[in-house]
Amino acid sequence: MLVGVSLAEAATRRVQIGDGMAVTLNSHHEVILEALPLRHEGLIAFANRLCGRTRGAVKKVSAANRGVRRLRAGVRYRVPFELLLPEYQLRALTALFEADSLQAEGWLHVVGKPEGRRSESLWQIAEWFTGSGLSYKKIRTVNRLTDEEILPGQRLLIPRDLLRPTLASALPRSLAPGGPVAPGRLEYGADEHGSYALYSLRAGEALYSSVVVHFTGRIYVDDVNRIAGEIAARNRISDVTDIPVGYKVKIPLEYLMPEFLPAADPRRLKYEEGLSRSAEYSNQVRSHDLAGVTVVLDAGHGGRDVGASVGRVWESIYVYDIMLRTRRLLLSTTAAEVVPTTRDGSSYAIQESDVLSPSRGHAVLTSPPYAIEDASVSSNLRWYLSNSVFSGRVSDSSDPDKVVFISIHADSLHPSLRGAMVYFPGLLKNPSSYGKSGTVYTSRREVREQPRVSFTQSERIRSEGRSRDMAARTIQAFSAEGLKVHDNKPVRDRVIRRRKAWVPAVLRFNEVPARVLVEVCNLANPEDRRLIQTQVFREKVARAIVRGIRSYYSSSEQEGSHIVGG
Ligand SMILES: [Zn+2]
Repeated sequence: MLVGVSLAEAATRRVQIGDGMAVTLNSHHEVILEALPLRHEGLIAFANRLCGRTRGAVKKVSAANRGVRRLRAGVRYRVPFELLLPEYQLRALTALFEADSLQAEGWLHVVGKPEGRRSESLWQIAEWFTGSGLSYKKIRTVNRLTDEEILPGQRLLIPRDLLRPTLASALPRSLAPGGPVAPGRLEYGADEHGSYALYSLRAGEALYSSVVVHFTGRIYVDDVNRIAGEIAARNRISDVTDIPVGYKVKIPLEYLMPEFLPAADPRRLKYEEGLSRSAEYSNQVRSHDLAGVTVVLDAGHGGRDVGASVGRVWESIYVYDIMLRTRRLLLSTTAAEVVPTTRDGSSYAIQESDVLSPSRGHAVLTSPPYAIEDASVSSNLRWYLSNSVFSGRVSDSSDPDKVVFISIHADSLHPSLRGAMVYFPGLLKNPSSYGKSGTVYTSRREVREQPRVSFTQSERIRSEGRSRDMAARTIQAFSAEGLKVHDNKPVRDRVIRRRKAWVPAVLRFNEVPARVLVEVCNLANPEDRRLIQTQVFREKVARAIVRGIRSYYSSSEQEGSHIVGG
């Protein structure tokens, strides 16, 4: 990757700080941030993002880059330290001076060993940390220096009251007298281990639920435990069950969900950009009683693949029953056409009992059908089948927005969590074209019809918007039916597990613009597990799913109570 201007040769130290940014300290002791413009970002937006709407910032940023006016993608541009928003100043300094530490009384700076000619000066240090070279006298006094001579490796305390406000706010507070942070609010800071958010635990709050699940979005038991362990270690908490009320927990910024990051953090800006972009692509098609609408209904797993299994409850059996009930309700109360992706046996008969008997008889309804053996083959054949249905409808000159895809699952998460969660496909990096080979695939008509699938960027953006709209309405419908939904972020654009993030294949390679995956409850939670073994609950879930579809096609912004009869 190129640096926008050729001044990099003067740099004596250069550190990558993530998000395509790097910070340099050159031989003139200038701290400079280099950043890539975001997609379609012009000079003004670039300067606003990194410097705030400061008067003159645009001109100065341009001047720092040889008077540039039009930014080019993939080129890094320089922003002088003085222009940067406080949070970027903090990131720059903590990245450059790794040996420094933040203490309650102030910032402890270790004088650097310069690779260039001149060593750091007291004036320079005062300027970096306090915003004014003139504070050098006070720094000298506090550190009992007899003259202005400082040596590499020497430690200097820059007292809290001299520091730039953002740097001061990053310092740890002594725990006893410092007031607690406002409920639910985070403060931000940095120490020798990196940037963090500070959250003050309230009475009755536990590390794993109030910190890990809430702020990091982790939901799988191994992830929740691992991150809780890492946070405990970073905060030197030896007993996670005995943390005093008001204890301020440092949460590494990289673990936070984007909405909890500082307002100017690039990852948060990108997230917010995604929200506003997909809002422009919500569904515009209206259909009373779902006439003309095709619903592809996908019950997760089946056959040899039982999915999540806790106690004697197999995900495959219970979500298949919910699919059947949803189908029945759609057929009896709407004009929609329903296309299930799987079937157990030769009919769609519903077992009218609470506890269901196990079966491994499910097949994916491709031509010929696939009696489910392998989980990944079965999930790939589902999106092939869905794409085949979709192309059929579109070639019948039907509106592509009149097809929706709903996959029904139940997950196995940290046992403290309860309720429903809906996934939609976010704009993760996708291969430009994707397809499967091997006879298990090519022996099926749906695969031969269209062996490979590809999406343009605008198709992805459109379906992100449609699907997010549908996901949000489905979650609203669950609440409206009195069903529990997750307390934290029940609508998500990716699965996060074991340091990876992905969109399930059944959504990722599916061409239906509005497509969601509904996790109806958490089988690892005893109450959720009890509920799914009742017909009343499964019938309610079916009603919620139908209600969500009707809301998606309803004429009003908010779904009305008339939408689902009975
Ligand atoms: Zn599943």
